[in-house]
Amino acid sequence: MLAGDHLKAASDLAVPLVGVGLLYQQGYFRQYLNNDGWQQERYPINNFYTMPLRLMRDDSGQPIHITIDLLGRAVTAQIWHVLVGRVNLYLLDTNIPDNAKADQGLTDQLYGGDRELRIQQEILLGIGGLRALQALGLEPAVCHMNEGHSAFMALERARILMDRFGMTFQQAAAITAASNVFTTHTPVPAGNDYFKPELVEQYFQDYRKKLGLSKEEFLALGRVDATNAEEYFCMTVLALRTSAYANGVSKLHGQVAREMWEDVYPQVPQHEVPIRAITNGVHIYSWVSSEMAVLYDRYLGARWREDPRDPQLWQRASTIPDEELWRVHERRREQLVNFSRDRLVRQLQNRGAPSLEVEEAREALDPDVLTIGFARRFATYKRATLLLHDPERFSAILCSDRPIQFVFAGKAHPHDNDGKAFIRDLVHFARKTDCRSRIVFLEDYDMVIARMLVQGVDVWLNTPRRPLEASGTSGMKATMNGGLNLSVLDGWWAEAYRREVGWAIGNGEEYADEEMQDTIEANAVYEMLEKDLIPAFYDRGSDGLPRTWIARMKTSLGELCPIFSMDRVVQEYTREFYRPAMELSHHLADNEFHEGRFFADWKLHIRENWKLLTVGEVVPEFNTTSEVRVGDALRFTAQVYLDHIAPENVMVQLYEGSMDGEGEISDGYAHDMTLTGSSDRGEGWFEYAVAIESTITGQHGYTVRMIPRHPDLANPLQLGLITWA
Ligand SMILES: *Cc1c(COP(=O)(O)O)cnc(C)c1O
Repeated sequence: MLAGDHLKAASDLAVPLVGVGLLYQQGYFRQYLNNDGWQQERYPINNFYTMPLRLMRDDSGQPIHITIDLLGRAVTAQIWHVLVGRVNLYLLDTNIPDNAKADQGLTDQLYGGDRELRIQQEILLGIGGLRALQALGLEPAVCHMNEGHSAFMALERARILMDRFGMTFQQAAAITAASNVFTTHTPVPAGNDYFKPELVEQYFQDYRKKLGLSKEEFLALGRVDATNAEEYFCMTVLALRTSAYANGVSKLHGQVAREMWEDVYPQVPQHEVPIRAITNGVHIYSWVSSEMAVLYDRYLGARWREDPRDPQLWQRASTIPDEELWRVHERRREQLVNFSRDRLVRQLQNRGAPSLEVEEAREALDPDVLTIGFARRFATYKRATLLLHDPERFSAILCSDRPIQFVFAGKAHPHDNDGKAFIRDLVHFARKTDCRSRIVFLEDYDMVIARMLVQGVDVWLNTPRRPLEASGTSGMKATMNGGLNLSVLDGWWAEAYRREVGWAIGNGEEYADEEMQDTIEANAVYEMLEKDLIPAFYDRGSDGLPRTWIARMKTSLGELCPIFSMDRVVQEYTREFYRPAMELSHHLADNEFHEGRFFADWKLHIRENWKLLTVGEVVPEFNTTSEVRVGDALRFTAQVYLDHIAPENVMVQLYEGSMDGEGEISDGYAHDMTLTGSSDRGEGWFEYAVAIESTITGQHGYTVRMIPRHPDLANPLQLGLITWA
């Protein structure tokens, strides 16, 4: 979903980007429930020839093929093309007669099979994907790995350079890293692939020889601790080690990712771990209902379609008359109710339910009742059943004379029995409660259901265990349609929430005791529903309008739409990553990679000699025994030993900040020091100095460190070279 929105926004902004992926014959699975509410999976075959897909062919009309090596077998893939606006998406497909039966099945299912199938799919995606671009005559200047699953791409990118220009792996890797971008999308362990070292060696023993790497050298690329022969090979680590640019998908997730992966960057303070944050967004135009779009045209002006990032434009949401906004919103709610009834009837008929039950379904839900949506993958951390925590209290809320109703949808992973049990529990609860018509589960969550839901609900409920929801995007889709969010302060909501735009569950706490957390947070939701949401929704003036509710809708639209649009996201990637990476990549490629080799050799030289560097004395040039006042200028000098590394290759920094309870500098800040001359300590010694202003009170610590410096080094901390005093 997210990658699709990314491509659409890239198209809108005319960013020259192509997408690469796998074309799954059976997609993800199709979901239906049995009588007991237990998820069943169907795997219908997609007919690509009836979809807007085109097989890529060469001039003679033959399908273009690429091959990859899997345990000595050449596996062939054909390439399909999808036009996403003006962006090209290429999808690989191994289901062709050239391949052995098992290899034909490689692209059958998303998230299917075992670890071995998984590594095969990732070899196809990463290595095959880059070969597909080559076969199509496309030379990417920058490669963006969207999650670690595609990280083998970085190896293939290096291999191609080695092959073409006779470089070593170190050279090619140094050059390509400068234009590799990596986005990590989840802290949930299942989302970060780990492979047994034996499995990796099996699949890569030939390939790594082409890279000139020993088994241990190769495995080290995917290990936090290169010397630990037991450690599994992690695709996220591989991606981090091979990319100069890395990010998480919300501010909070950026922090979480820095904490999770700090060991990949030994000696680097956690807050400086080079994983930044670019918060996700959605392609507004794809998710806004046609009715709301008409309102936006009328009150914001047609430009919202082209430039949804403009905050001033969205400010005009406040000019939409309350009555009109509410009328449109109610119409969408009614459509959601009708859609849900049709779906329910069909679901029940398909499972052969008694006709009484089918008749009841025709009257499920109520178009005038406060409607809450919850639709997402039924991964357990998302806690779809949180509201069942106190069934009696929940029933009482559903059945009161100011009722609420729920529409649920979502698939559990086929192997995730806990997730499936959540669905069953919801269905069982819905059957038992006196107000069974107020809680429905729609089977087979997909974009159609998602659109109906986000366009028609009053409130979008989001109950992940913080901080496991890296961003979340469905709540943004509801926002764009005037829906309000009721959510744990996790992912995007942790940065979007204010009282004026929605509701927060808790205050951003994290719990060690999950049961206690569920109790506290379920009660918080009940309390908020009873005391806040329900009164705000049902308190109507003589004109029948919930004025405070509508005011919230407008504030939420006005403030959040411009920020959480995918246009803003793609712009941010372009400005922060794609463009600088592209410029660097062109520069390094100049003169048959003359610059690139120079840079790569520099990196190697620095890496080999770095251990010779030491920081000698650090001298504060002021009286440290007396008090320092805010505003005082503080001068420091330091003696450093650079051996024969030239001073321009090293950045010497004063690192200072508040002291924590353990006498460590927390959240320190680095000030670049300037070379003042050679030191009288002897050959290879230099003196550096800096003057800083004391800006905050309390106890401070200071130290000096050195990191590599080079104009082509996009990310000085990525080399993992850092020397502290
Ligand atoms: C938006 C969307 C998702 C992703 O939603 P999150 O809130 O980011 O988990 C998943 N499935 C469908 C069908 C969607 O439309």
